[in-house]
Amino acid sequence: MKFCSNCAQPVALRQPEGDHLPRYVCDTCGTVHYQNPKLVVGCVPEYEGRILLCKRAIEPRLGYWTIPAGFMENGETTQDGARRESFEEALAEVEIGSLLAVVHVLHADQVHVMFRARLLEPRFGPSPESLEVQLYAEADVPWHDIAFRSVDFALRRYFEDRRGGVENHHFSAIDLRAPRA
Ligand SMILES: [Zn+2]
Repeated sequence: MKFCSNCAQPVALRQPEGDHLPRYVCDTCGTVHYQNPKLVVGCVPEYEGRILLCKRAIEPRLGYWTIPAGFMENGETTQDGARRESFEEALAEVEIGSLLAVVHVLHADQVHVMFRARLLEPRFGPSPESLEVQLYAEADVPWHDIAFRSVDFALRRYFEDRRGGVENHHFSAIDLRAPRA
């Protein structure tokens, strides 16, 4: 950050009094610009035993497969967001089920929250965000072409739980930040 989004004057990076981290501070209008993780919400839609995957039409990871997921919007719940993303990315109407996974993606300053879901009708298709959308049996999941580690984690836990007849929720942290010197 270089300029204040409130008054457009330059900001400085320093630790405000009483704070424990450096922040972008505007000395002109006094605004402290806090930067906090963003929530990404998604789901694993299932239809008659198969799950819905989308081939990404946009960077990052263009051409790789993922579940419908995206940034949560203000004014919606995590479930609302996951349902909305399913429609936007895969034209799929889903009913959101139980919590599947919470993955802290520390290098991206994101938290990924993923649910189980039921695809209501076998209707889906490509969108501006997905080149292809397809139902996959567990045996056919393209594990080598999964776009993100968080999605790989969620899918593996999904199938493990399904085999065990349980719906647990799972936590994980992924940290690809360069080690501090
Ligand atoms: Zn300012």
